[in-house]
Amino acid sequence: MDLKIIALMAAVVAAIAVGVRAARAAADVRAPQVDAQGSTPPDEGPVVVPAPSEKALRYYRGGNVIWLVEQFLGLAIPSLFLFAGFSAMLRTFASSLARGRFYPTLIIYLCAFSLLTSLIQLPLSYYVGYVREHAFGLSTQHLSKWIADQVKGALIGLVIGALILWLPYLLLARSPSYWWLWTGMLALPLIIIMFLVTPIWIAPLFNKFGPMQDKALEGDVLATASRAGVEGARVFQVDKSVDTEKVNAYVTGVGNTKRIVLWDTLLARLSPRQIRFVVGHELGHYVLGHVVVSIFVSWGLILLGLYGAHRTADLLLSRFGGRFGFTQLADVASLPLLMLLLSVFSLLIGPATLALSRYHEHEADRFALELTHDNHGGASAFVALQQQNLAVPRPGWLFKLFRASHPPIGERVDFMNSYRPWEHGEPERYTDHFRR
Ligand SMILES: [Zn+2]
Repeated sequence: MDLKIIALMAAVVAAIAVGVRAARAAADVRAPQVDAQGSTPPDEGPVVVPAPSEKALRYYRGGNVIWLVEQFLGLAIPSLFLFAGFSAMLRTFASSLARGRFYPTLIIYLCAFSLLTSLIQLPLSYYVGYVREHAFGLSTQHLSKWIADQVKGALIGLVIGALILWLPYLLLARSPSYWWLWTGMLALPLIIIMFLVTPIWIAPLFNKFGPMQDKALEGDVLATASRAGVEGARVFQVDKSVDTEKVNAYVTGVGNTKRIVLWDTLLARLSPRQIRFVVGHELGHYVLGHVVVSIFVSWGLILLGLYGAHRTADLLLSRFGGRFGFTQLADVASLPLLMLLLSVFSLLIGPATLALSRYHEHEADRFALELTHDNHGGASAFVALQQQNLAVPRPGWLFKLFRASHPPIGERVDFMNSYRPWEHGEPERYTDHFRR
């Protein structure tokens, strides 16, 4: 789902992305398989952060250029549709095909607009998502799977867009002054529904979710969850090895959909100790309520973004309405304008949302350390992740400010090496959550 189909959809997906962010903890190529049973792990001393390889530095620099190009396109494509009058032409075409009826016009416009923007972005998507990942040895995906995933993502985006996009436009027509407030109010249940539905119905459309093969390890994972106060979760193994060499895990769901999901790449490359640390980190996000915080923060930002769009759209429409070919925000042709304004807004608040995300990641690391007391397991997992995912352990401050959702790996290893209050009889922050 990497197509920017509609602005609201993007905002909702961004909210989900913030909320369901999974750990970047790790891949040890051949770590010694020791201590699977949860006793206090031996301490092998501090772990050294290796210097990044030449290949990793190339991946990092290229990634920064790509990020800049993507930000530029995110603003340039909707601007092109607006200032060249394409959006108004597309709306006239949709309206004539639908004989002026509201909902069919909206659907036809949405499909045509999504198709055109996807085609414009296709060369870059193909390069970034397929060619480049293969060139750096990070992808295992067949071209057919990449294409199928793109098509599925686009269709899911269209279905969700068709289900929700009429709401803001109906509200724009009925309540031109407060549409942003009502739309924002409706966004909260939509975010929560997306959060609940994504792991159960959408994620399985892309990969196979099965039971854990290694039952001893599953027992260890469940015991770790139980110590963190998470009972009754199911453990899933997902076949991400058909897509990538990268490793990941997450904990999500509520009630009887509560689940711990481990990528098979993680299971293949990490030692049981490192897996336990990663699971501890993900449990930290879950137990500490990071998802709930992220949902409400995203919701607040969506409200603020919609209000900002409401206030600036009228100014732009009175100034450029002639060139745009429409003068009302309630006109479906305004979709690229809303997208443009929300893109600018998300770019402006990006550093703040990333800082919140890095704070959550740091606290999840602390939670995992206090749960496992395994400084070496955690640190070695991060070093392995650095090597596996071609990460640069100490990136520049601009990268951190605008791009880093997680603390740099170097900082995470430093923390793993130094945080051990239990050795000095000092209080730990999260032990109240644990069942010892
Ligand atoms: Zn995390």
